[in-house]
Amino acid sequence: MTHPSRRPLVIGNWKMHGTQASSVELLQAIQQSTQSATHTNVAVCVPFPYLQLCREQLANGRIQWGAQNLSEHAQGAYTGEVSATMLADWGCRFVLVGHSERRALYGEMDDHVVAKIRQALSAGITPVLCVGETLAERERGATEIVVSRQLNAALDHLQPAELEQLVVAYEPVWAIGTGRTATPEQAQAVHAHIRARWAEKLPSHADKLLVLYGGSVKADNARPLFAQPDVDGGLVGGAALDPDQFCAIINAAEQAWNH
Ligand code: PEP
Repeated sequence: MTHPSRRPLVIGNWKMHGTQASSVELLQAIQQSTQSATHTNVAVCVPFPYLQLCREQLANGRIQWGAQNLSEHAQGAYTGEVSATMLADWGCRFVLVGHSERRALYGEMDDHVVAKIRQALSAGITPVLCVGETLAERERGATEIVVSRQLNAALDHLQPAELEQLVVAYEPVWAIGTGRTATPEQAQAVHAHIRARWAEKLPSHADKLLVLYGGSVKADNARPLFAQPDVDGGLVGGAALDPDQFCAIINAAEQAWNH
């Protein structure tokens, strides 16, 4: 994390956890203990029913919020779906797109991902494009091929002005929720690859692209990951539900920025 035009960003992905009461408690605890991290941007992506709580608890503070999914359609007869406009109404700044759980469990394909990115952008919400390989893909040496394919879905179909709004999260599937983290060197190698692919399409923007690492980030492994030159912060799942862990991860991003 060395480039002056990239402030670190740490996003907590709560997944499908919590109650109204536990969410308020968690938001308040995070708000209290992140006050000293002034250079690091912080956000939480919460379940849809808790977005209103974010608006109530976090308005006027420096923690932003977002959703974990959105519809690829603008509006209409799509029972159970939530549109980008609705997310904007709730004050969302971010939305996760293409998370490996959406890809694996809900059949989200690259063309859905692009449609969702377009919807998010049209509502003024920053899409966080999640990419990453499975263990089998890594073991057969296909990491860069898989990540390039997932990136190309965006790079080949979106205009430069749209691409400039994206955040990318590299999340090796084998590291998500497993307790098995990529080494800093493994993460750096893929992050550098992502930035290089970006530079081919958008040379003037590659240095500004935020590339987050996700996959079992914890308080005790965050610092060396965030110290890598192309790692600009983290997308944090399990540890985002524990305010002490989450705040320590934010502080690790802050320290990496300061060095
Ligand atoms: C995630 O949900 O995107 C994630 C990285 O989860 P965890 O930190 O629990 O591996």
